[in-house]
Amino acid sequence: MKRIDNFNAGPSALPLSVLERVREELVDYQGTGMSVMEMSHRSAAYEAIHDAAEAKLRRLLNVPDDFRVLFLQGGASLQFAMLPMNFLGPDETALYVLTGVWSEKAAQEAVRFGHVVVDDQAKAEGYTDVPTQVMRPADVDLRYVHVTSNNTIYGTQWRELPVTDSPLVIDMSSDILSRPVDWTNVGVAYAGAQKNLGPSGVTVVFVRDSFLARANGDVPTMLGYPTHVKQRSLYNTPPTFAIYIMGLVLDWIEEQGGVEGIAARNREKAGLLYRVIDEYPDFYLGHAKERARSDVNVTFRLRDDELSARFLAEATKRDFVGVKGHRSVGGCRVSLYNAVSVESATRFATFMEDFVRAHR
Ligand code: PMP
Repeated sequence: MKRIDNFNAGPSALPLSVLERVREELVDYQGTGMSVMEMSHRSAAYEAIHDAAEAKLRRLLNVPDDFRVLFLQGGASLQFAMLPMNFLGPDETALYVLTGVWSEKAAQEAVRFGHVVVDDQAKAEGYTDVPTQVMRPADVDLRYVHVTSNNTIYGTQWRELPVTDSPLVIDMSSDILSRPVDWTNVGVAYAGAQKNLGPSGVTVVFVRDSFLARANGDVPTMLGYPTHVKQRSLYNTPPTFAIYIMGLVLDWIEEQGGVEGIAARNREKAGLLYRVIDEYPDFYLGHAKERARSDVNVTFRLRDDELSARFLAEATKRDFVGVKGHRSVGGCRVSLYNAVSVESATRFATFMEDFVRAHR
């Protein structure tokens, strides 16, 4: 069996033990005589999987009791539209903090439904940083402030969530469960599962009851959060197999010492690569300012394009997958999500050092 060092940005690596368990249970799930894929979503066996996944998420992330947890479809991209459709009236205003491509996309959807103001400090800096303090217009009542906790493409991350006087709506797609969450000021948080949580197909949404209470009732049934809250994400057929695998990933996270354990490991992995970047500034140029460096997406380029191309070719030859930067920024991006091992990160850091020695 071949398992490569997988640094894909999403979908991305899953823990091998989880994949092996899926294989073991694939055709006969715990004596039911069928695969989870073949089960009714109304069956007791599936409901147990569904409820356990929610309970594990709540426990691991310390989600307060006044939050509902939803398993939806449509990816984080559908949340970009569902959020303002439900929570931003035509006379209301939301602030979007632009910290990368994904927050820009979120803001573009919100414009269809209400007023949008933006904090574009990071954009002005070429998305190398996140704001030290969110800038909000005076005298405007803000329905919510939208932030992206980790910027997958640029490799920047908020070390701490910003403090604002309005509820935060957070796109946690690329760093959910990679570190603890301070829920104090959160109204909604959402994330596609395919980076840190499991396979693609399920999107996790956390909504606070007091925020939900102000949802617009006049939206299509499937696009209204109250529909899914009332039916515990079983209004229609949920992505059952993806939710099952997510549950297994959550068990695995628990075994790694929970979110604290995972966060320490993620710090260590990212530190291995940033150390090499800092040690050879004549070779590697990190994209993110040090204070905003992401623990899950390490972005950098080499001193010139030709060397970058050679580096990427050499990485491919050595079976490192997913190292090419996003097409909108170029360079290199190494995604070190939860399931990427310290050994994988160590092998890549060593490769980076070897590359310097070979091309000095
Ligand atoms: N937000 C962020 C921060 C992302 O990284 C991504 C996907 N890379 C998205 C949103 C879009 O997610 P999806 O493909 O699940 O719609």
